[in-house]
Amino acid sequence: MRTDVLGVGFDNLTLEEAVEAGASLVEAEGFHYTVTPNPEFLLAARKNPPFRQALLGADLVLADGIGVIYSAKILGRPLKGKVPGIDFAQRLLAWMANHGKRLFLLGAKPGVAELAAANLKSTYPGLIVCGTHDGYFKEDGPVVEEIRAAAADVVFVCLGAPKQEFWMVEHGPATGAHLMIGLGGSLDVFAGVVERAPQAFQKLGLEWLHRLIKEPKRIGRMAKLPLVLWYALGARMGRN
Ligand code: UDP
Repeated sequence: MRTDVLGVGFDNLTLEEAVEAGASLVEAEGFHYTVTPNPEFLLAARKNPPFRQALLGADLVLADGIGVIYSAKILGRPLKGKVPGIDFAQRLLAWMANHGKRLFLLGAKPGVAELAAANLKSTYPGLIVCGTHDGYFKEDGPVVEEIRAAAADVVFVCLGAPKQEFWMVEHGPATGAHLMIGLGGSLDVFAGVVERAPQAFQKLGLEWLHRLIKEPKRIGRMAKLPLVLWYALGARMGRN
């Protein structure tokens, strides 16, 4: 049973449980995908039913960000905690390195995925990065073929939302991969192009504030985020 937060069902898992579930999906037959919705996703999904469907259809739905946790709490359906996509990815990488699983990195500007691959291989000795491709391609077919030829077990799909979710749904099964994960700007972080918030910010649930300080032009986009709490409050009041 998933926990509904404003129309999107979340798996109520700790980070460790999520990684265990992710590893099982990599080992299982067939294609699976994971999404990591943050409050921006929830607002977008309200206006974009196909995007909402893509989120609902995922095999694993992780609460990326404190805004989802607060909304769930306001709704009276608290989740165990946030599971940031990038933390999930890092733990899964450690598991993959120990189990000989093959990783393909898809997304970001040309050159970034290669840089990310080099960094990840040095952080996780034994990790097999079987291919990379930037996120600004015109035709999907050749990219699908590249992933298939690389015999990837796992693909990090970092094209930004909702593009990455639609791409996983539409093209994932043809790639032969077992697990795709939509990870937004994570390749930029792995490549060292974008800096992640310091631990103190992460612990306090203030990653959004760090991001705003680093990229003030996001203010327009971020100003809308408290709306999720407002909607959650409205939904709670309406119900009681
Ligand atoms: N991106 C891409 N192809 C596109 C659009 C975006 O590869 O057509 C990449 C972009 O370079 C960045 C990531 O997708 O690395 C999205 O980053 P953003 O910070 O917007 O995503 P978020 O983490 O906020 O979902």
